[in-house]
Amino acid sequence: MSEFERELQSRLANIREQGLYRELRRVQSSQGPRIEIGGKTLLNFSSNDYLGLSNHPVLKEAAIKAVEKFGAGSGASRLICGSLAPHHDLEESLARFKGTEAALSFSSGYAAAIGTICALLAKDDIIVVDKLVHACIVDAARLGGAKIRIFAHNDLNELEDILKWAEGKSRITHHASRTLVVTESVFSMDGDHAPLREIVALKEKYGAWLMVDEAHATGLYGPNRRGLAEHLGVSDVIEIQMGTLGKALGASGGFICGSRALVDLLINRARSFIFSTAPVPAAAAAATAAVNRVQSEEGRALSDKLWVRVMELQSALGFRPSALPSAIIPLILGEESAAVAAAARLREQGLFVPAIRYPTVARGAARLRVTLTATHTLEDVKALSLALRQFDHRPSAIGD
Ligand SMILES: *Cc1c(COP(=O)(O)O)cnc(C)c1O
Repeated sequence: MSEFERELQSRLANIREQGLYRELRRVQSSQGPRIEIGGKTLLNFSSNDYLGLSNHPVLKEAAIKAVEKFGAGSGASRLICGSLAPHHDLEESLARFKGTEAALSFSSGYAAAIGTICALLAKDDIIVVDKLVHACIVDAARLGGAKIRIFAHNDLNELEDILKWAEGKSRITHHASRTLVVTESVFSMDGDHAPLREIVALKEKYGAWLMVDEAHATGLYGPNRRGLAEHLGVSDVIEIQMGTLGKALGASGGFICGSRALVDLLINRARSFIFSTAPVPAAAAAATAAVNRVQSEEGRALSDKLWVRVMELQSALGFRPSALPSAIIPLILGEESAAVAAAARLREQGLFVPAIRYPTVARGAARLRVTLTATHTLEDVKALSLALRQFDHRPSAIGD
């Protein structure tokens, strides 16, 4: 064995010892309430395809048409010759959907976060993030080189203290440093919500900018299903609205919505946008179809159905119903090994519920992360709640 291989084997052994080893599972079906893994059909409670759009005939048709007209690949980056009509259609649809001047699509939500945060901040600036923000925001903050300050999850007092400190600091140094606050609207591993109205009030008070990642809210909340910011009536005062096209929108890619100037700056400065081949036309066309679907009556019906399933599960598990629901329902088991064993047990029983553990969540806060979709039936929810009774779990300590 080469020295390189030996080193990797020892690192892998270390990961295994900690109960943190992960492997890919080959899924032999499309996304849906039932998926096939290893020749077995499992009831699936792990997908972020909340509205079931990834298999919607209208999205599939749009993708097929785009392949026929524009081919399989985009051929170049957007700034060379890869900026195809489907990308422009998507961005126009996104801006209309979100009610912003402009929108820009990226190859993923991850790329959108990295490109945007690094384009906006320099070394002397300050980025203030919620403790539980997604890895893409943490990575972007580190890569961008701005000073990073973290506030405890949804802790407005701590956020205000940091903003006060940041304001004082730029006054003392006479250096016009920028402060950017970043949070998710619906948190990916806890399913709880950020107090966006209060965060907006604070960022206005201290002259900071705000970026909100609506990855788990786009398509689900608000009268037009634009996201939690729409539901709370604060969309217009959020400088940077981010989302992904790969979750409730059932396609693939990420996006930023905001002013024309923001989008023009990103086209010029976001390196993950500039130095990457444009997303395939099929993805852009499917996403455009999804954006149109979620705004339709069908979109409303699908999100209503999702919330009915969520209420049914909460009531079956004896959780208090939340005023503001979430499709993500974590069941905290604590120990990494307990979560992994529970997921394995459920899988034997024909249910697919992923165990989420460090580093995705804190050590000792390992959990089963249940996600419900509009395509589940009441019977599916009953089967799940029955199976979950065998474990000693608690709802997320965080709650909402
Ligand atoms: C999934 C996710 C992303 C990344 O989006 P992709 O399109 O999957 O790259 C970003 N932020 C949050 C909160 C997410 O859950």
